[in-house]
Amino acid sequence: MKRPIQFLRNPDPARIPADLLAFLRKLGGPTLIVLDGEERERTRAMATLLHGNEPSGARAIHHWLLGGRRPRTKLVCLLASVHTALHEEALRHRSMPGQRDQNRCFRPPFDDVPGHIAEHFLELLHQHRPECLLDVHNTSGVGPAFGVAPHEDLAHEAIVSRFCSHLIITDLSLGSLMEISGSPCPAVTVECGGARDPVADRIAREGLERYLLDEDVMGTLAGERRLDVYHHPVRLELVPGASIAYCDEPLPGIDLTVPPALERCNFGGAGPETPIGWLGERGTAALRVRNGRGEDVLAQYFTARDGRLYPSQKLRLFMVTTNPQIALSDCLLYASPEREHTRL
Ligand SMILES: [Zn+2]
Repeated sequence: MKRPIQFLRNPDPARIPADLLAFLRKLGGPTLIVLDGEERERTRAMATLLHGNEPSGARAIHHWLLGGRRPRTKLVCLLASVHTALHEEALRHRSMPGQRDQNRCFRPPFDDVPGHIAEHFLELLHQHRPECLLDVHNTSGVGPAFGVAPHEDLAHEAIVSRFCSHLIITDLSLGSLMEISGSPCPAVTVECGGARDPVADRIAREGLERYLLDEDVMGTLAGERRLDVYHHPVRLELVPGASIAYCDEPLPGIDLTVPPALERCNFGGAGPETPIGWLGERGTAALRVRNGRGEDVLAQYFTARDGRLYPSQKLRLFMVTTNPQIALSDCLLYASPEREHTRL
């Protein structure tokens, strides 16, 4: 087994570059930051920068390190895709060109660079036995912050409530870090909002402070926060070889032309009158909608009318991307039926 993750223990704040990129350059590669806490017997875990173009979590932990404070419990924090974040133009690449997505690699096979990082981090988690694990991301589109968890229970809700008031419970199996939840500990993803949005940086910074200082992050919701919970989203994907474009009118020869304003539907409701985009000659055959069991359920969620794609029921949309590479390689959006929405 390869072990590519290096360690940085209780760094002296005076020796940490004040600039995030200079700090990442100094680290030079995947790094586990280990901070001793007030309580020696307890450990919390965090991962961030799994995607090299999603810096809010890295900014938050960098800010914490500069402050030199001691967390309540021991912290182990992985900064994963440091190489990717520094590749070519900084903070531009989600993954290294030609490599797998780091957040799809937390299950075997671990036989490439992101796989080695994933396998090593899983080993470190089992060594440190944290009480909980947090993975901080940004969305590629604009929109409010939200959490994602594989189980609906108080522990997952309480961790997410340190950051935001939307939570998605998903049974989609992609190989993401959060899916290890339960072994060894509850795990959540927090999407802090857009990667270049200062609000997302603030949400990450303030949420991390609660995560590091609160006595109990799994037994109670933070403050008076209410939590909107959505269930079992599906992914709207393009089939291999299909094409997508973003434009306010249909483009010839394109399988799906999406109006750029669709991004504003992030976490907004979308109903049977909300156009998702213009279909090409292949119609919905260019698309697929998969649920957690891998079944294609397109007809339950979307319908074609007059050459356009519409929801066939009231949906909550999220992770709507206007990045064609992400739409093609991952998915255009996630959708959850509005009727499966609960409020805590
Ligand atoms: Zn991400």
